[in-house]
Amino acid sequence: MADITRRSLRPGRPVLPPAALRATLRELFGEGAEAVRVIEYSWFARLHLRAIATTRRRRIYLRGGAAAFFADPTFVLHEYFHVLGQWEPRRLSVWKYCVEHFRRGYWDNRFEIEAREYADDHRHRYCALLARREAEERSRHA
Ligand SMILES: [Zn+2]
Repeated sequence: MADITRRSLRPGRPVLPPAALRATLRELFGEGAEAVRVIEYSWFARLHLRAIATTRRRRIYLRGGAAAFFADPTFVLHEYFHVLGQWEPRRLSVWKYCVEHFRRGYWDNRFEIEAREYADDHRHRYCALLARREAEERSRHA
């Protein structure tokens, strides 16, 4: 209980993805993936009402813990796509997102549709790459 209280008062903590995951993301998204910082238990994410994550340039802010995030391929692909496919090429901005959100809501706005499609389209390849990288990691440490 005390731990939960202390944790909720922290401003958020950057967490490095596991090595196999970093290698997979680099392979899928290119070098830019290395520059993305994942911040867990983020107050910034909590400000976004119901959101479980929110993104900015080079940042993924998680409401909860990073371990659960890293374990969910669809979630990882979705959020990394927001950062590397939308924020980095500057197709997405706070203003553009707000306009889309106002016009179409969360589910139907084009940034969310695109991120969901990306995650669906790349999930199999991601899981195959990750499994290979994890096997390599295990044999390296065996
Ligand atoms: Zn999204």
